[in-house]
Amino acid sequence: MTEKESAAEGIFTAGMEYVLKRENISRETLSGNIKDGKAVILHNKAGDKHVGIGLGLTTKINASIGTSTNHVDLKEELSKAEIAEKGGADTLMELSVGGDLDRIRRDVLSVTSLPVGTVPLYQAFREAIDKYKDPVKMPEDLVFEVIEKQCRDGISFMAIHSGLNLMSLERLRKQSYRYAGLVSKGGAYMIAWMIENKKENPLYERFDEVIKILKKYDTVLSLGNGLRAGATADSFDRAYMQELIINCELCDIARDYGVQTIVEGPGHIPIDEIEANVKVQKRMSGEAPFYVLGPLVTDVAAGYDHISSAIGGALSSSFGADFLCYVTPSEHLGLPSEDDVAAGVKAAKIAAHIGDMIKLKRTGDDLNISKARRDIDWQAQFKYSIDPGYSESLFKLKNKGDIAGCSMCGDFCAPLRVRKYFRDEIKKGKKS
Ligand code: SF4
Repeated sequence: MTEKESAAEGIFTAGMEYVLKRENISRETLSGNIKDGKAVILHNKAGDKHVGIGLGLTTKINASIGTSTNHVDLKEELSKAEIAEKGGADTLMELSVGGDLDRIRRDVLSVTSLPVGTVPLYQAFREAIDKYKDPVKMPEDLVFEVIEKQCRDGISFMAIHSGLNLMSLERLRKQSYRYAGLVSKGGAYMIAWMIENKKENPLYERFDEVIKILKKYDTVLSLGNGLRAGATADSFDRAYMQELIINCELCDIARDYGVQTIVEGPGHIPIDEIEANVKVQKRMSGEAPFYVLGPLVTDVAAGYDHISSAIGGALSSSFGADFLCYVTPSEHLGLPSEDDVAAGVKAAKIAAHIGDMIKLKRTGDDLNISKARRDIDWQAQFKYSIDPGYSESLFKLKNKGDIAGCSMCGDFCAPLRVRKYFRDEIKKGKKS
């Protein structure tokens, strides 16, 4: 039985218990949200780790790793998986397209306790290229075989591009294409396949088979956004909306069948469209968990796209998005290094925290660190910071000797100058 089916039967599973202990939510609300498809539970099938995503739960972050066709280094990918987990990622996506894909996926699964996701189309097209020298020769059945194989290996969630169908392709043609064209690998390759074969996307046409496989393994379906915008000027266009509408329809079908389902979003989007983007997805999908890729709020931040995406991610989360895919400083420029993965995870964690301050009114750590700054309590400042080890090491590097404040202002430390005048007020008030 899937977590969703269990919740519908009134069974509170080990996975739900695991999530309940780590989130500020009641047992009834958690169970009700899973039953209604407003939250999902991802499970690392080799261990006991479960991650709850959706309504009433903290915003989660995903770190994507994986080889490219011209850079294949398994050791490096395994190291990235470990760095992402250590840095605080909630899930990993293994998105390799080069090398021995089965081996890479299985080795990544063996080094992480996080739920791992994939995009099965990547492997299906890769195998078609290896076998037929042409991805458009991919036999339809191959993608279903890959989905089942990856589920069997223990993949927890899959981005599947079922909403990309002939209708959404027609919208794309009628709107006179786009500034940045198509940027989803799975989406672009599937469109080429559909055009060359003059056929409907099998992941749409045979959606019942997709959900049948996922249900068997309780693998969470993440309805991919193959037409997501790759330019802020392309956001919210008719092609994106068409695919989103179809994904929301498919989400209904999958949930009615008992499959835990997430809907994916952008992409690139201007900052003033983020609220509408989240609200439209939530309304049309019956509040399905919303997974945003970044989103990036400008196109000019190459080298700093982890910052651009953290701004988009923080806003998206504050308006109700549930799951943020990190972006690294290498976005648009090259395959991320281990340092890029660490930087991307940190930026996304900050974004999720900022969003949760508004969405879930989670301000406890901010209050604690603020009071610690007022009181010049360095240990508490490290403890409540988003990266305690890093903040402490930076402090030690920048400050030599026994000083009360820090080298930023030296003797001009503002809290040190005035705290003796307000001790009584602090003791008497609520802000102690
Ligand atoms: S010296 Fe300046 S930066 Fe450092 S603790 Fe005091 S006010 Fe803050």
